[in-house]
Amino acid sequence: MAQKKAGPVCSMCGAYESSRTRVIKVFDGLNLCTECISYIDNARDSQLKKKSAAEPEDKCGTEIPKPREIKKFLDQYVIGQDEAKKYLSVAVYNHYKRIAQKDSGDDVDIEKSNIIMVGPTGTGKTLLAKSIARLLDVPFTIVDATVLTEAGYVGEDIESLLTRLLQACDYDVEKAEKGIVFIDEIDKIARKSDNPSITRDVSGEGVQQGLLKLLEGSVVLVPPNGGRKHPEQKMIAVDTKNILFICGGAFDGIERKIASRLNTHVVGYGHDESGRKKKRENLMKYVMPMDLKSFGLIPEIIGRLPILTSLDPLDKEALRRILTEPKNAITRQYKKLFEIDGVKLEFSEDALDLIVDKAVEYKLGARGLRSIVETVMMDAMFDIPSVKTDKFVVDAAFVNDQLEKAHFEKTSIKE
Ligand code: ADP
Repeated sequence: MAQKKAGPVCSMCGAYESSRTRVIKVFDGLNLCTECISYIDNARDSQLKKKSAAEPEDKCGTEIPKPREIKKFLDQYVIGQDEAKKYLSVAVYNHYKRIAQKDSGDDVDIEKSNIIMVGPTGTGKTLLAKSIARLLDVPFTIVDATVLTEAGYVGEDIESLLTRLLQACDYDVEKAEKGIVFIDEIDKIARKSDNPSITRDVSGEGVQQGLLKLLEGSVVLVPPNGGRKHPEQKMIAVDTKNILFICGGAFDGIERKIASRLNTHVVGYGHDESGRKKKRENLMKYVMPMDLKSFGLIPEIIGRLPILTSLDPLDKEALRRILTEPKNAITRQYKKLFEIDGVKLEFSEDALDLIVDKAVEYKLGARGLRSIVETVMMDAMFDIPSVKTDKFVVDAAFVNDQLEKAHFEKTSIKE
């Protein structure tokens, strides 16, 4: 593990004083290296320039769809998850209204509405964030919180998660500064203080502290090619004030924390068995900021993710709808592929039911639907282009045959 050096350290980029860089104490608690000072200067100049060309900011306000329209758009791509859609729609709408807002001089500052979504893996968290970005036509990137480590340690610097956002818009800093970053697996950087073997929580609390400044909005120096920061590398200054962060995580086991909170609440009001049973069905629905805290997120992070919503587990009916209803549903994609060869592809109702049953049987969830359909369609995709036919029907018998032939149950990977 890398060791930290001693001496004054730049509060912005973590650089130490060296023959090339001086670290200056600006005031108690804030040291800046000469490089960061010049980047701040540049960032300020470019902000001033942007302000004087105020037109794009006005446009942003008028083009933002209303929450109902956002939800309607999401409905085309994501099945169910109505609650999460509603929260997202409102948060996104407010976020862009806030960006478009002109200084009214009344001291009312609309705060940033970063979002955290809690729910089992494969239930649509990433898909929701992706769909929002598609609607708004803003740069979007997905980053995995598990690769991030505290500055000075092996892994990626926290700032590097903005590298991908810059890459998504060809390094157009102004565009990136209004983009959306989806941080997946945020639960994996939860503090693990109850584990006595960990003396230094490299991937936990330190990373959360690092994330704070990105979430709340500050000018950060981003390595253009990601990875670690090098003193020789020319950094790009990005202001995260208007970047919307959407975090997602499965938070495995958080139900227990919710249950114990709810139970303590219930005691004293008598035993309401039916109420308790109902609550046990999908406890995630009742998630509150304090549950995230008991899970190991630091209160400051929770404070900067003010919109908290949960996703429901997908039942059979939802999986069935996912197969056919979304705009780019998997069966639609295959139909399109076959259509290019002049073949009309059909899936019988019982074939679709069986695919869903298999996904449930192997506990593969929505992600498994794709691997099952891929397996089922492999032979047909191999043969059909060379066969003279204008129609191909996938029925339950065909699904069964193909899955057995491919020993699907042995090859499928459990999530
Ligand atoms: P996660 O919650 O782990 O971020 P994803 O959004 O990545 O899950 O979902 C994985 C895949 O499963 C998606 O690409 C999509 O094809 C499908 N999927 C999951 N949930 C839904 C949903 N509610 N509606 C439509 N498709 C879904």
